[in-house]
Amino acid sequence: MPLLVFPGGYGGMVHSDRGRVSLSCCIRRDTLARCRRQWPGSKAAEAVIAHMRASCRGVDAALDSATLDATWLSAGPIRPGIRAIRRDGIFAVGNAAGEAHPIVAEGISMALQSSWLLCERLVAHKDEILAGRGTAALAADYAASWRRNFARRVYMAAIFARLATWPAVARVAAVLLERAPTMLTLGAYLSGKAQPLGVLQSSDSK
Ligand SMILES: Cc1cc2nc3c(=O)[nH]c(=O)nc-3n(C[C@H](O)[C@H](O)[C@H](O)COP(=O)(O)OP(=O)(O)OC[C@H]3O[C@@H](n4cnc5c(N)ncnc54)[C@H](O)[C@@H]3O)c2cc1C
Repeated sequence: MPLLVFPGGYGGMVHSDRGRVSLSCCIRRDTLARCRRQWPGSKAAEAVIAHMRASCRGVDAALDSATLDATWLSAGPIRPGIRAIRRDGIFAVGNAAGEAHPIVAEGISMALQSSWLLCERLVAHKDEILAGRGTAALAADYAASWRRNFARRVYMAAIFARLATWPAVARVAAVLLERAPTMLTLGAYLSGKAQPLGVLQSSDSK
């Protein structure tokens, strides 16, 4: 997936199907506001793509002969953090339970894996639930297991994102990564990417 870097944001392009390519990005609010001033009358996404094409030659060349399929979709804002695992008797999974900063691109994994964790807990606690003893034990178990599996991803992603916004640190990191690319493996490990589902299962199953 080509990584796109432009002033105030970054993104990526992925081949999907039927000759289509999806383009997604994250952009700072102040940059978005500037783009909208620079391209007045455009929708937010149109101003963003104009900004990307104006500042990133590769994006401009790649999109030169592309046509837009339907309209640009916008989503946001990003709200990294850990949220309540249960609200009004409803258990949360995915982004509703917690969100790691997109710098580590773990949102889909966390959505799938947290759903899996909750299902496993529901099965493990079904007897006490069916006996009418409530869901407090299930909630405590799921919350502990969620934290064990995902809290580090959320915290590490926050640290990486914070460091990346300091130009001096980002410059040093670029030099270090060039000299020691294996640091990326460490980063992948710290952000949960090297943690297979099987490990989650064996270490957490009751
Ligand atoms: C532009 C972009 C690029 C991304 N790129 C990546 C990537 O490369 N890799 C990665 O891992 N993650 C990526 N993510 C993050 C990832 O998409 C999310 O973390 C993931 O989809 C979260 O899954 P979810 O099921 O929790 O929520 P969602 O996928 O947001 O699903 C929630 C669904 O609930 C629906 N909904 C909301 N409220 C209600 C309601 N009241 N009643 C009924 N339905 C409701 C919504 O319409 C939505 O369909 C990206 C996100 C964005 C926005």
